[in-house]
Amino acid sequence: MKRAALTFALILSLFLIIASVGASEIMGNDYPNGLDDAYQSTDDPIVAAGEDELDNPAVIPGEDQLDDEGSDGDIDTDSSFDSSESTGSCCSSESTDSTDSTDSTDSTDSTDSEGSADCCCSCSSDDDSSFVFTYSATSGTADSDDSLVSPGKTQPTKFLSSNPSSKLVPYRFTYAKDISSVYGKKVNFYVKVLNKQGKGINHVLVTFKASNKVYLAFTNKNGIARITLNYYAGNYTIRYYAGEISGKKKYTVRNYYKITNYKWNSGANVLKNKRIRDNVPNSALVRKMIKLAKSGTPVIEFKGGPGKVVFITAGCHGNEIPSQVAAMKLIKYLQNHPIKGTVYVMPFMNPKGTAANVRDYKGYHLNKNANKKGSISYKTVKLITKFKCNAYGDFHATKPGGKPGKDAVMGTYKPTKKSAAMAKYISKNAKVKCVIYKKAGTEYPGALEDEVNIKGIPAVTCEVISPHGKIKKGSTAKALLMMKTLLKYNEVI
Ligand SMILES: [Zn+2]
Repeated sequence: MKRAALTFALILSLFLIIASVGASEIMGNDYPNGLDDAYQSTDDPIVAAGEDELDNPAVIPGEDQLDDEGSDGDIDTDSSFDSSESTGSCCSSESTDSTDSTDSTDSTDSTDSEGSADCCCSCSSDDDSSFVFTYSATSGTADSDDSLVSPGKTQPTKFLSSNPSSKLVPYRFTYAKDISSVYGKKVNFYVKVLNKQGKGINHVLVTFKASNKVYLAFTNKNGIARITLNYYAGNYTIRYYAGEISGKKKYTVRNYYKITNYKWNSGANVLKNKRIRDNVPNSALVRKMIKLAKSGTPVIEFKGGPGKVVFITAGCHGNEIPSQVAAMKLIKYLQNHPIKGTVYVMPFMNPKGTAANVRDYKGYHLNKNANKKGSISYKTVKLITKFKCNAYGDFHATKPGGKPGKDAVMGTYKPTKKSAAMAKYISKNAKVKCVIYKKAGTEYPGALEDEVNIKGIPAVTCEVISPHGKIKKGSTAKALLMMKTLLKYNEVI
């Protein structure tokens, strides 16, 4: 009895040493049927979540959108999926893209994203001659690291055969590819171990390392070993070893995104505004937002992992162009740069005003009635509180001779002291004037910033100097710099 317990403890501690961090689990082999056949028959086989283009990333299902609260109007949700993100040849991932949906029903809670990953497991091979021995990582630190320990000690002794021509000695890796995915979506990474004769070797222990995490997997009868990864947005290096051979590939995780269009009777074609039309960045995602703005106020959410939630708006005043162009550029930036946390961008709060190149919405000054139920700015404040944002920035342009009449950031001390701290940080780092008011709601009652501060969420208003209806040289870049500085303060970028 005692001896058995001792043996068990010994095995357990060995197991923990191998896994080194986190919980371990042993999984049955679940390679798709015919994996090797697929490999041999095509140059572009099974490898998961491959070279999907950035403009149309797959999206994981998000939280439910706003409840339909009557006065808030209708909502369109655009959770797009990239069917090319299929994780295995045995799977057909379902596309639930609803990009162009113009009806007023909520759409696409796209839970099929995970399904496509799990699908491969459900059609697993009956080949039980090998198994995966791993621990799962749901996170990683975006960094390649060179401080990895040699996995030599974990190799089965048969690799160390004195006969280099042995059919059991790993001679080279094949099959491995750079992989990419979207935050929240699993992706498989495969390698194939060949002997000198070019044949896959069964039951070879392959050690994988990514972001200081270690994964062990045995090859199956076809010589293929697989691990499944699910990291935060970032750029990683996967290294892999078997016996004397090694290799490395890239693993890229992009931000998840989701677009929701709020039908607030605000929609119009913003491209009617020449200054907007001439400054649309080259991004399919931005074009999608512009298209949606025809029928509402679109908001895009980017998420790269845990962290703070920041909301950015532009276009409250339709004829303040630089901040709206900067918001479009920010969308393009966030599409291609991994973030920590979540960013919501509303580039055109008032598409009708933007299209007509006028300040107000149907004669209403939106930045004076964010405290009036039913107004677009009121609804925007509601979204910011609903999403439990940690910070908010409202971006404008101020005409020469206006108020404040220069590049500036504004905040308040009360009731959210952090609003002032955020304003000071942006002022210092984006080199703009800092104006801090004592108490939110006194200087500019009904302003978006004030109303959000009153709700206890730190908020700032950012202004760049530019004539209304036009773009002063350098003003767009300054607005974009202030947006990024707001994100930096909140450690999102
Ligand atoms: Zn304004």
